Amino acid sequence: MYRSYTFSKYSSDVRYQYCSRRAALKCKARLRLDRVGKIVFADDTHNHPPPRFYRDRTGMFTKIAD
Ligand SMILES: [Zn+2]
Repeated sequence: MYRSYTFSKYSSDVRYQYCSRRAALKCKARLRLDRVGKIVFADDTHNHPPPRFYRDRTGMFTKIAD
């Protein structure tokens, strides 16, 4: 998760991650990570608002289905 948006990897290379709404909305936001998972590049120009989350009883964040 980055700036309250969710990202997913779309290939076996975990260093390249794209917005999880990319397929549905053609959102072009993306992240590039280094080998230890640190963000080295972020393009967070989403074409949609961030997904909403709520914190459940155990303190975990859960995505509200949209
Ligand atoms: Zn997006």
